[in-house]
Amino acid sequence: MKISIIGSGMVGATFAYRLLVSGMASEIVLNDVNKERAEAEAEELNHCLATEQNTRVRAGSYQDTADSDFIVITAGMAQKVGQTRLDLASANATILRGILKEVCSLSPNAVLIIASNPLDVMTYIAVKESGFTSNKVIGSGTVLDSARFRYYLGQKLGANPKDIFAYVIGEHGDSQVQVFSGISIKGLSLQTYCKEFGINFTQQDEQDIVEKTSRAAYKIIKAKGSTYYGIASSLMRIVKAVWRDEKVLLPVCCLLQGEYALDDVCLAVPAVVGKDGIKKIVQLDLTEIEKSRLAASSKIVKDSNIL
Ligand code: NAD
Repeated sequence: MKISIIGSGMVGATFAYRLLVSGMASEIVLNDVNKERAEAEAEELNHCLATEQNTRVRAGSYQDTADSDFIVITAGMAQKVGQTRLDLASANATILRGILKEVCSLSPNAVLIIASNPLDVMTYIAVKESGFTSNKVIGSGTVLDSARFRYYLGQKLGANPKDIFAYVIGEHGDSQVQVFSGISIKGLSLQTYCKEFGINFTQQDEQDIVEKTSRAAYKIIKAKGSTYYGIASSLMRIVKAVWRDEKVLLPVCCLLQGEYALDDVCLAVPAVVGKDGIKKIVQLDLTEIEKSRLAASSKIVKDSNIL
């Protein structure tokens, strides 16, 4: 597998490290406008080769990305303290457009994965302007937010996040929707699980978990400047699902065309991911409140779209 990572900052480099350790890629190309940065990251990753998996890692130009199986875009400005993801829209749209113009025609068979923020706005641009069919353009969506949701739920419930099926949908941003109605823990509904394990799950607990999940990035960015481990893991999860044709359900950002009564907007919803990308969007049974929160999230993203 050849995979090119455009943007070799914290997210791009951490993802490259995860990939190298996984042994899934035969070749990783790191690209960045800051060539020195990409070269230094590639050089340091090569210091892992004696002790990790055998992968060819190099810094490269757009031309060097040709014939990639995956193009993963992590380039652009990251949130600073006090900024929302949507504040990055205009600057990152310009950067993304420049990249798409260069890389897409060189790797016509690739699956394009977007991580740059504001994620849903960037994914929409990529769907509209990459020339790829929409199933082959995948935004990292709320794979990360859902992992955070499962972690904080697990903390409260004394459960392993792997035993918790729970989704965050909508914007990868402030208007995201935590779907409490469909949670399943060890095969039980939230209500049954709490009864079985003697847990008192209050309205306040729910609010705390919503707050922790949606504000996690703000807290981490304030303390250490940026977030990168969680998104690197989420990107790995998506790449693995496609490469191994896993047909697994992931809350990725995809183009909605009538699903959830929403049209012509990119938002995160659970979708079956496998070879060739998004195979099917799955429509959860949402409560009326969840539906209206998702519609509100969609409006926020739509109003921010730049075409
Ligand atoms: P960073 O500043 O560490 O790295 C960004 C890199 O992009 C820099 O090295 C910069 O030189 C490079 N770049 C800028 N323009 C480029 C271009 N035209 N071509 C190639 N490279 C270019 O930032 P980061 O922390 O790595 O974050 C990267 C992006 O990922 C941000 O937009 C951030 O908000 C986003 N992010 C998304 C998630 C998610 O869940 N989707 C999570 C964390 C961060």
